[in-house]
Amino acid sequence: MKSILIKGARIIDPSQKLDAVGSILLADGKIDWLGTGNQKPPAGDYDIIEAKNWIAAPGFIDLHCHLRDPGLEAKETIATGTLAAAHGGFTTVCCMPNTEPAIDNRSIVDYVKEKASAEGAVRVLPIGCITRGRKGEGLADMGELAAAGVAAFSDDGSPVMNSRLMRQALDYSLAFGLPVIEHCEDKVLAENGQMNEGIISTRLGLQGIPAAAEECMVARDIALAELTGARLHIAHVSTAGSVELVRAGKKKGVRVTCEATPHHLTLTEEKVMGYDTNAKVNPPLRTQKDIAALIEGLKDGTVDVIATDHAPHTALEKQCEFAFAPFGISILETAFGMLMGLVHAEKLDLNLLISKMTLEPARILGERFGKLGTLAAGCPADIVLINPDLEWTVDPAKFASKGHNTPLGGTLLKGKVVATIYQGTVVFKE
Ligand SMILES: [Zn+2]
Repeated sequence: MKSILIKGARIIDPSQKLDAVGSILLADGKIDWLGTGNQKPPAGDYDIIEAKNWIAAPGFIDLHCHLRDPGLEAKETIATGTLAAAHGGFTTVCCMPNTEPAIDNRSIVDYVKEKASAEGAVRVLPIGCITRGRKGEGLADMGELAAAGVAAFSDDGSPVMNSRLMRQALDYSLAFGLPVIEHCEDKVLAENGQMNEGIISTRLGLQGIPAAAEECMVARDIALAELTGARLHIAHVSTAGSVELVRAGKKKGVRVTCEATPHHLTLTEEKVMGYDTNAKVNPPLRTQKDIAALIEGLKDGTVDVIATDHAPHTALEKQCEFAFAPFGISILETAFGMLMGLVHAEKLDLNLLISKMTLEPARILGERFGKLGTLAAGCPADIVLINPDLEWTVDPAKFASKGHNTPLGGTLLKGKVVATIYQGTVVFKE
């Protein structure tokens, strides 16, 4: 593997509180040297990437995506999903266990890990089920899953409706030091729901999902995390009320963290007007007021990380009546460009944005998979290069992902990932 010198970039690394122009030398898959100002790199034989006017940051870490493998390979495979991740600047992705079969035992964890090392473009960390087959009836063998190397436990796509079972899961998770990630949705309250409940759902004649369907479960789970002392991570928080509940929980000392997605941070329920099934997500796109609360949550630390909830589907599945379409957006490749819109609009600080995609998710993962989300010397050479001002039009037909389901086709974005380096190897270049 040839060494690489990234020369003259604006280096942003929140783990070192670094924002300065400099150069980074990568050797043997690791960060070998980082220098700013007039510091000269050590002499040697290396390829040079001229990165003037670009930003160099640690490769993004996604705590929440769907790679659909095993069993749903028409939607995505580990090869295409990780390539999409590389295109989006992600060097680590945690994949949710709602595959077929579900990731609820060691053999499926091993399958995902082996396939990822054979054909994955970036690092894949599987998440194991909370309950067997994600059925919400009996706990999966969490000890076996932890020993097999899962990053967390989740039944994502479904909540654990049985409070007693959820309490047990949180209790057991303490023994493994892993977080439990909950998809917070009261299934009874949300039943048959298609979009956010409000004036627009009434006008469109679509069954609404009230904010309370999410907030009831957020409140319950925070109470259970308090009861057990376990680590709870709430997936895709989408309402102002949820942000408020997490804020109050943290204030009380409950070990709760949460994430927001690029779509819940930038799109509203109005995207559903015209019955665009590509705007059908769960939790649904909400309102401007909710977006403002999520951004406020990012700023004051209530919302810890940004995670994509990349959810690819086939074109056929989305080409149907709104009520029959599956939930989800294929979003790995547009995530950063969407979020840069908030930076250009001066609603979010660039350093904070990068922190929410690098340092903060790394904190939730801990160091069991190595020191990730940092450009510190000796750590894996996982790096994203960004042109913050590059304007580009989203063309789903060009996605590396098999899922072309995005409501952003034809949208102009400003800010693009131009190269991604994983363990010292360039895995994507514009
Ligand atoms: Zn979910």
